[in-house]
Amino acid sequence: MTGATKVAGVVGQPISHSMSPTLHNAWLAAAGIDGVYAPFAVQPGRFRAFAESLRGGSVAGLNVTLPFKGEALDLADEASFRAQAAKAANVLVYRDDGSVLADNTDGLGMLAAFAEQAPGFDVKAGPVVILGAGGAARGAAAAFVEAGSPQVRIVNRTLARAQEIAETVGALALPLSDAAEAFDGAVAVVNATSAGLSDAPGLEVPLEATPPGAVVMDMVYKPLKTNFLAQAEGLGRRTVDGLAMLIGQAVPSFEYFYGQTPPRSVDVRSLAIEALGL
Ligand code: NAP
Repeated sequence: MTGATKVAGVVGQPISHSMSPTLHNAWLAAAGIDGVYAPFAVQPGRFRAFAESLRGGSVAGLNVTLPFKGEALDLADEASFRAQAAKAANVLVYRDDGSVLADNTDGLGMLAAFAEQAPGFDVKAGPVVILGAGGAARGAAAAFVEAGSPQVRIVNRTLARAQEIAETVGALALPLSDAAEAFDGAVAVVNATSAGLSDAPGLEVPLEATPPGAVVMDMVYKPLKTNFLAQAEGLGRRTVDGLAMLIGQAVPSFEYFYGQTPPRSVDVRSLAIEALGL
């Protein structure tokens, strides 16, 4: 590091599991940028004081993860459509004049994952289904709407949560018991529930009700091939994994913080697979 080193980082609680420092520092090294990307563990209740103290450019920006994504949006002076629709920010950009811009790149990461692992996928070709109604589902719904999806169907165990998102972004809400109906004619199905995480029991939905050309994605990346994706593969559906989304959301963050696109010369997917023990 030098006196001119550009500093950015990720803030959350807990933060030790975060893959972001691995990704960003590998890109920085490969690009030969005088920059560093640090993890910041901040106690709940202290996030706002921490984030406010950085106004004025002492750091270039922050990625924000659980549980601070809502608070991050609240403190920003300006927010993208994506962050407003998701009601959460995963990026704060600190400008020299003291102002803060909030964005949400999770949805962009999801669309980048589709582009990478399901080439030719056309979001405008038919309805998409999102399983789940938490923060990740909200961001995904906003991204699909912004990308021109003709209909977004949000399917959740707790219908009221799906209805709330549906009202905000202009989507359809259905209970999990109506999943087969939701899958009818869909071009994509995204699992944005936390079912399928490591030891959690997977989500049991009738994926056979999806059209043969549908693309199936799971946001969960540990395990990399969830039961949900294995079931989709068994049915001959194209699949997209959550790790591609994780890397995809980091790309625009890096561009915000360091002013250039991450170099392709470093295989960050392999680095992440190794670091996560996948
Ligand atoms: P969240 O706010 O806690 O929401 C969890 C959702 O999962 C809720 O809709 C919940 O339904 C549903 N759910 C949980 N267990 C279920 C089960 N057994 N059966 C049916 N539904 C179940 O979580 P989140 O922040 O939105 O994150 C969701 C997942 O996406 C997490 O696994 C997270 O790690 C992943 N994610 C990945 C990326 C990436 O870059 N790959 C980015 C963001 C998030 P109820 O409403 O009925 O409780």
